[in-house]
Formats: sequence, structure tokens, C-alpha cells
Amino acid sequence: MKPIQKRCAIIQCPRCEYLQLIYLDTKSHRCVFCESTIKMKGSRVKILHISKSPRDASMVLMKLKQEKARSK
Ligand SMILES: [Zn+2]
Repeated sequence: MKPIQKRCAIIQCPRCEYLQLIYLDTKSHRCVFCESTIKMKGSRVKILHISKSPRDASMVLMKLKQEKARSK
């Protein structure tokens, strides 16, 4: 049996713009920051990055957050 590699995406909450990690097969996600429900289908949610593994995704997320903090 092969381990199932879940693909991850980095999304930006349309309401508070908080960057967070989700699994790509997630249909809806509750924002960890403002607790609004983000629907993945047909919404204006921004997907900033898609990764093959949660580990890779969290590294990219860290970079994006650093860049965001610097641009302020
Ligand atoms: Zn939010």
C-alpha cells in the first residue's frame, strides 16, 4: 500500500487575508483567524501555492508570511 500524499494549498482568507494551509480536497475550511467559513468551490478564495506535501507547504507558508511582514 502506498502512503497517500495529500496535496496542500496555501490560501488567503477573503475576509481577513490571513494565510493558511489547507488540504486540496477540502470543500470548506474555517479560517483559523477570523473563523469565517471559506468555501473552496466558486468562492473568491485566493490559492497562492499548491504543494505535494504538508511539509513543503508549511515551508512556503513561512516564506510568504515573512515576505508579507516585510512589506508592511
Ligand atoms: Zn479569515
